[in-house]
Amino acid sequence: MMPLRDGQQAMAALDDRDFPDCPVCGAASWTIVHDGPVRDGGFGSGRPGRVARCTGCGIDRLAESLCLDETAYRTEGYRRHVGQDHDLLKHYAVHDELQRFTLDAIWPMSLRGKCVADVGCGGGSLLDHVRGLCGELIAIDPDPGFAPSLRQRGYKWFAAASDAARERSGAVDVAFSIQVIEHVRDPVAFLTEIRALLKPEGCLVLSTPNRADILMDLLPVEFPSFFYRTQHRWAFDASALARCAQAAGLRVAGMRHIHRYGIANTLLWLRDRKPSGRAALLPLDRTADDLWRTWLERSGRADNLYAVLVPAS
Ligand SMILES: [Zn+2]
Repeated sequence: MMPLRDGQQAMAALDDRDFPDCPVCGAASWTIVHDGPVRDGGFGSGRPGRVARCTGCGIDRLAESLCLDETAYRTEGYRRHVGQDHDLLKHYAVHDELQRFTLDAIWPMSLRGKCVADVGCGGGSLLDHVRGLCGELIAIDPDPGFAPSLRQRGYKWFAAASDAARERSGAVDVAFSIQVIEHVRDPVAFLTEIRALLKPEGCLVLSTPNRADILMDLLPVEFPSFFYRTQHRWAFDASALARCAQAAGLRVAGMRHIHRYGIANTLLWLRDRKPSGRAALLPLDRTADDLWRTWLERSGRADNLYAVLVPAS
């Protein structure tokens, strides 16, 4: 048998069941961008995996056989997978400190009196941060575990945006979806369902990890095995996210890169080859963090994308 060249080997080995046609652009051609461990829970819990990039629209997809089953999101399974459960205090401890990045992303937009929905709200930390300012607040999450508490706090709970649209189609001023689209089975269908909720002048504020994160360049061996993970079916850069939004009838009104860590996080990654969260590295201080963040955000290398999407017509 004739040996295949490198590129042919990569293409020949792609299984259609692992890399079916792209739901964003319909292309059937994928190029492998990561062939190695992918994270399966916390740091160091890798499984062998593959990630490929659509040659049409540029979205990255994890091999289907590695993806977390969607039913996990309707049970305790997903939260257990990421080391969480339905303890609200734990939810607040993880998510409360992250809300400032979302609030920063929408500044100077006012939510006063607005109908707001959070798609993939979990325990409702973001809604809690805007309660008292908004009008109606809609909590959407497939996991019913937090639903009693969300209702008790005055939020209208639905399991899916399509369920909410039966009662609130075209009623939402501002929808949020923070770190959700990378998990869903079909990102275009997901955005299309949210679009149905929006008023014609409404918007969706959506965030997702940025695959152009600086650590992908600085640690090309170690970091991709941390960045790509079994609970993320998709990975985006700003261009791929814009293409996905366009396919769902949404237009990019704004795209920001927002970095959630200080410079110590990057330097400790380089020194220790492992994540250190918000650990300090003296004498680096907030001024050093601000300089580093500004460069990352201006150069598109921050760890998160924040898009403001509006109905295209
Ligand atoms: Zn595509």
